[in-house]
Amino acid sequence: MAGCIFCKIAKSEAPAHFVYQDSDISIILDIYPVEKGHLLVISNEHYESIHDTPSRIISKVFRAAAALARIYRVYLGAPGVNVVTNSGRAAGQEVFHFHVHVLPRWRGGGWRTLTMRHRLTSEEAEEVVNMIKPYIHIIEEYLAGE
Ligand code: 5GP
Ligand code: ZN
Repeated sequence: MAGCIFCKIAKSEAPAHFVYQDSDISIILDIYPVEKGHLLVISNEHYESIHDTPSRIISKVFRAAAALARIYRVYLGAPGVNVVTNSGRAAGQEVFHFHVHVLPRWRGGGWRTLTMRHRLTSEEAEEVVNMIKPYIHIIEEYLAGE
């Protein structure tokens, strides 16, 4: 959709730090992370939010989110992970292109600290991309599974 930042990112017409991309979904770093490793799983096609996204794409996005939750909890030692999608301005949605937040919680604090953000630096982005890189096969396994 014209003017949509996530459409532009999915088509490589705007910059982002990518962890993974296939023909249906992209996994990018959130530009204002709550904590290090805050990722967004987005559909490549434009849908407003979960209520108008086809179930095949919802399934792929959430499978990727589940794989990322496993990577953070089991392999990278995060004590917690939030997996969240916001639908509608009233729910706090700011980018009206379907996406799911995967947010490792290294410090704790849960929902109370969801609004405390910092600007992503290129050093932090590189660190996160390298942290996930050895586990991309887990994302592929989740996406290939029944
Ligand atoms: P929402 O509240 O819509 O669920 O969250 C949108 C998220 O997208 C926010 O966490 C925000 O920091 C992130 N975001 C907004 N614009 C951009 C952008 O241009 N690039 C990236 N990587 N993230 C963005
Ligand atoms: Zn879009």
